[in-house]
Amino acid sequence: MAPAAAVTTEEEEVIVVGAGQSGLAAAACLSLRGVRSLVLERDDCVGSLWRKRAYDRLHLHLAKQYCALPHAPHPDDAPTYLPRDDFARYLDGYAARFAVRTRLRREVRSARYDREAERWEVEAVDLATGQEERYAARFLVVAAGENDERFVPEVPGLEAFPGDVMHAAEYRSAEGMRGKAVLVVGAGNSGMEIAYDLAAAGAVTSVVVRGEVHLVTKEIWNVAMALYPYLPLWIIDKLILLLCAVVFGDTARHGLRRPAMGPFTMKDTTPAYPVFDVGTYAKIKTGEIRVFPAALKSVCGNIVEFADGERHSFDAIVFATGYRSTVRKWLKTEDGLIGNDGMAARRYPEHWKGENGLYCAGMVRRGVYGSGEDAELIASDICKLLRLEGQGDTGKPCHAHHNGS
Ligand SMILES: Cc1cc2nc3c(=O)[nH]c(=O)nc-3n(C[C@H](O)[C@H](O)[C@H](O)COP(=O)(O)OP(=O)(O)OC[C@H]3O[C@@H](n4cnc5c(N)ncnc54)[C@H](O)[C@@H]3O)c2cc1C
Repeated sequence: MAPAAAVTTEEEEVIVVGAGQSGLAAAACLSLRGVRSLVLERDDCVGSLWRKRAYDRLHLHLAKQYCALPHAPHPDDAPTYLPRDDFARYLDGYAARFAVRTRLRREVRSARYDREAERWEVEAVDLATGQEERYAARFLVVAAGENDERFVPEVPGLEAFPGDVMHAAEYRSAEGMRGKAVLVVGAGNSGMEIAYDLAAAGAVTSVVVRGEVHLVTKEIWNVAMALYPYLPLWIIDKLILLLCAVVFGDTARHGLRRPAMGPFTMKDTTPAYPVFDVGTYAKIKTGEIRVFPAALKSVCGNIVEFADGERHSFDAIVFATGYRSTVRKWLKTEDGLIGNDGMAARRYPEHWKGENGLYCAGMVRRGVYGSGEDAELIASDICKLLRLEGQGDTGKPCHAHHNGS
């Protein structure tokens, strides 16, 4: 047997983990400042969330001016709410335009700070060959996403359910579901839109809405976003709720109770997000989509028993029950940047910088806009540190390297 080849360490200025919008934006902002970075991505493409883990009818919830990455506004003729595929293409173009250096199919398995060498040591695996790889870098940017691992609650008997069981990340369209009884578990944006998609295609659709939900429209939210810089949150909340009352009436009558906290305050201060109605509510009102208020207790054959004792038969179940970050599995540091849930431990706007050249981007649930903001902050901080360490504040790009493969 041939001896295993020694693993050499590749030196980089900055390693970025994850080639979603956050990682691409960080690399682009660095590139524009003349700082060389390498993006390691587990998947075989950039922006894989939009390409591989999102359903066909998905459009961005926010208008295009809030969904552009730094230095790349969407063109005037782009639709106000970008379809999933357009946004995926936008990310491809973004990576090319700013010459982002990516290494695809690389899964980062470990990253730790070597205090003596004053650098991050990153171990990855080339998923195509199984070959182990080592990288070392002065700076490490965690951009591995808040939506990495699918979360499905444990339900006794689910493993023996005879029909289709899938996570929202696997759901593409309602093809083949016509006439079938489908249960959607979870009433976030994905769950409510998938329920609409199923019902519109003729599936007998039910949705589990356990908690409270702020149902809004994209248009109302856009007004709120425009007012955000000028008005206090409580006034924006009142305005949103007034407009929602006009558009929807009392959503609690149909099983969608609103939280006591206003929608914009909730979005700004908690991980929760409002639900953008795409037509689901009209179908709930007419009974075309049925709302179940209790969690799943158990499954027996194709019968689902709910926590309130109701029992119903289904042909398929879609779990729109969210995701988990996996950063804690590989980031070996206890400096308090990343919390136990794998998300930024500190709240916005103090969330993005850790110790020893560690940063995180896109880890405080602030969407595309937040990814861009984080990227600019991180790139400018790295640039500042490089200037202090090496070149003094020249006002010029902070490093001689330019990104290019
Ligand atoms: C269905 C859906 C719809 C959404 N709609 C909107 C919207 O309309 N507007 C909005 O602003 N936000 C929306 N969001 C939120 C959206 O998730 C975030 O805005 C965005 O995906 C975060 O981008 P990111 O680059 O931080 O993470 P991701 O897009 O998740 O990218 C992280 C990348 O890191 C890679 N990675 C993870 N771990 C490793 C590892 N160990 N080694 C190597 N690579 C790794 C992953 O493969 C992934 O490609 C939506 C989310 C979902 C799920």
